Amino acid sequence: MYAQVIVDVPSAQTDRQFDYEIPDNWKSIVQPGMRVVVPFGPRKIQGFVMSISEQSSYEQTKAIADLLDAEPILAEEFLQLGNWLAEETLSFKVSAYQLMIPAALRTKVKKQLKANEIESLPTHLKSLFDQGKVYQWDELIKEGASVLSDVQAEVKKGTLEVEYVVIEKGKTKTQRLVQLNMSLDQALSLLTKRANKQIELVHILSKQPGPISIQALVEEGQTTRASIKPLREKGIIKEVDQEVYRDPLSGLQFERTDPLKLTNQQQQVVDQVNPCIKKEEHDVFLLHGVTGSGKTEVYLQVIQQALNLQKEAIMLVPEISLTPQMVNRFKGRFGSEVAVLHSGLSMGEKYDEWRKIKRKEVKVVVGARSAIFAPFDRLGMIIIDEEHETSYKQEENPRYHARDVAIWRAQYHQCPVILGSATPLLETYARAKKEVYQLLTLDERVQNRKMPEVHIVDMREELREGNRSMFSSVLFEKLKDRVAKGEQSVLFLNRRGHSTFVMCRDCGYVATCESCDISLTYHRSQNRLKCHYCGHEESMPRTCKSCGSEHIRFFGSGTQKVEEELTRVLPEARVIRMDVDTTRRKGSHERLLSAFEKKQADILLGTQMIAKGLDFPAITLVGVLAADSMLHIPDFRSAERTFQLLEQVSGRAGRHELSGEVVIQSYSPEHYSIDLVKAHDYQAFFQTEMNQRKFGQYPPYVYMTLITISHQELMKVIDVSETVVAFLRRELSTETTVLGPVSSPLARIKDRYRYQCMIKYKNEPKLRKVLIEIREHYQRELNKGLQLTIDLQPYLFT
Ligand code: ADP
Ligand code: ZN
Ligand code: ZN
Repeated sequence: MYAQVIVDVPSAQTDRQFDYEIPDNWKSIVQPGMRVVVPFGPRKIQGFVMSISEQSSYEQTKAIADLLDAEPILAEEFLQLGNWLAEETLSFKVSAYQLMIPAALRTKVKKQLKANEIESLPTHLKSLFDQGKVYQWDELIKEGASVLSDVQAEVKKGTLEVEYVVIEKGKTKTQRLVQLNMSLDQALSLLTKRANKQIELVHILSKQPGPISIQALVEEGQTTRASIKPLREKGIIKEVDQEVYRDPLSGLQFERTDPLKLTNQQQQVVDQVNPCIKKEEHDVFLLHGVTGSGKTEVYLQVIQQALNLQKEAIMLVPEISLTPQMVNRFKGRFGSEVAVLHSGLSMGEKYDEWRKIKRKEVKVVVGARSAIFAPFDRLGMIIIDEEHETSYKQEENPRYHARDVAIWRAQYHQCPVILGSATPLLETYARAKKEVYQLLTLDERVQNRKMPEVHIVDMREELREGNRSMFSSVLFEKLKDRVAKGEQSVLFLNRRGHSTFVMCRDCGYVATCESCDISLTYHRSQNRLKCHYCGHEESMPRTCKSCGSEHIRFFGSGTQKVEEELTRVLPEARVIRMDVDTTRRKGSHERLLSAFEKKQADILLGTQMIAKGLDFPAITLVGVLAADSMLHIPDFRSAERTFQLLEQVSGRAGRHELSGEVVIQSYSPEHYSIDLVKAHDYQAFFQTEMNQRKFGQYPPYVYMTLITISHQELMKVIDVSETVVAFLRRELSTETTVLGPVSSPLARIKDRYRYQCMIKYKNEPKLRKVLIEIREHYQRELNKGLQLTIDLQPYLFT
């Protein structure tokens, strides 16, 4: 018998299945989806078994050297998904499979077999466990075929379990628990009357339903570990080690919440989705709901429906909004049935959560992008909240988008997907309008709460009136008023794209490329402006092209500077600053937010990380300091991102009884992406932006593919990119546009020069074939320092 194996060598030559012979004693147990170790050239490497066959078409095959799993680690669904994903993103199959297993399993782990119920094992297996509850895997796989297949059968039943012991410094996986070793009376008879502390501890223990941790005992008895010692010495207590999950949320209390009575609009949405779950029908819904319209409550209730039908659910949220508030809402509703996956977890913690899913101990996963691979096998619902967020796209190989994986999995399981947002991605909304997705709308906030009133302040006017500070007089007055009234404010400063564009402070003119309609990027080293789409360059202007003013310069002011200014002009305000600097330490994010929630500060000042998810009743004012900063990033989505961000930030105000106000400061208040926030008019924004996209031939009117080439030698990069572009122009159809090659926005990273070219096309059936040809042509050089990345769905143009 032979196994078809994908080996763990990500390269074009090895991106196929290799046949390996299965040794006799493993014949009955090797299955697709298991990991094996195989000889490959002079080395031994890992691989994934894809399928099993009686015959091999190769004359000579080597034998599998080691078997790493007792059960398939990748179910059939994931074998297929990996195949599709590799094709879809032009990546290697093994990279796709590695993506689906927890990082802990990719490192060295100790494996052992653990008996969950020794008593119910057949006698010959029971003998393996003479020495205790575990048996080392390395010993086990030396056993004969019949023992191995019996073990496998027990693993299936759950009486035996394969444990992967991840060795992680400073983390314990077991917890020492204590319990009484005798009756209460017996215990008391062994203690003298003066041993007050010990008597108290014995009483505490006698009231417990089972063993408790030493920590808990010490806390309950308000004493130290030292006072437990006499109990241990007299044999009054017994200690047991119990396996515990590294629960990142342990110690937090979650108050159980009941489903809210839905509003009519919410009910209509739920009524559309629920039948799909029940009838096992696949469909993709776009839930377009304004901020505060109760989307999260809808998610909770459709997930409940899936659970009622014995199904499982995945809820994706952007990493940045995976706040304690969000997690609380899920834990509060579904309790211990929820696993949480995010990047802040250690490798061991992630692995524990993954194991809970595999063991069916949880039914709901809330997590960031990679949680879409949660190994559920009865999916009934997938939700992607804030679907417009770019963090759903992985910006390294395999460059997959979580939305595509979600739709693939939902098709496989025949269940619905909900894409939710107050400001859907333009492409998504266009698809909903064409009825590719079903549009569901929540256009009112719950309980008749009003959308916040938005004031847009023209900062050019402020300057003309002599106000050179970063706060307009309107914003300053309102901040002062809120501090006096004891209401809270949020101040938002966008750090992205700072100092890279050039603007006139008198008229708001921004230097843009004449042929691309994209702002030019300032290059400090050469003091020149460049277009990163077409390559056009010009020198840094001394005066404004539009009004002649000399107040033309590039922009920048950090949160720290704003904080200093705030303390100067509003000394009575208590400010919490949240940015990369103040949230570097683990847990500081949560700490700062909870301090703000407890009203220990009047103003929350921060960057992107405070734009989403916050739902605090006392926030009645939101200020945006420089609304333009994102507008001029050289990216065709910059207007869309600006509108999305401003809507999201505004959405933090007045979500409860107190109504809210928003002040947006801008140098280009007439730009539609800023102006339309006033009326919270997504529809109008959509229309205007679609016209722009049509005019400039950008998605959703065309598809785009970005090729980036980098190398340490500039000449090499230029040479390769010119060859690639010439080849593309020759091979692709004449309706397709190939732009470039031009230097990338980040022209050099870590001493590597970077060039890019962009393909815009409507229908290009040959594209994949041509791209693969390019990759294969440069294969040899790729090992020698040339890098060539192909992004079929670019969201980042760095
Ligand atoms: P979104 O996710 O659309 O921004 P949320 O789900 O956070 O909105 O809802 C906003 C606020 O309204 C939350 O405090 C939530 O608890 C509350 N809410 C949602 N639905 C209802 C309802 N049907 N009845 C009462 N309050 C609700
Ligand atoms: Zn240009
Ligand atoms: Zn000007």
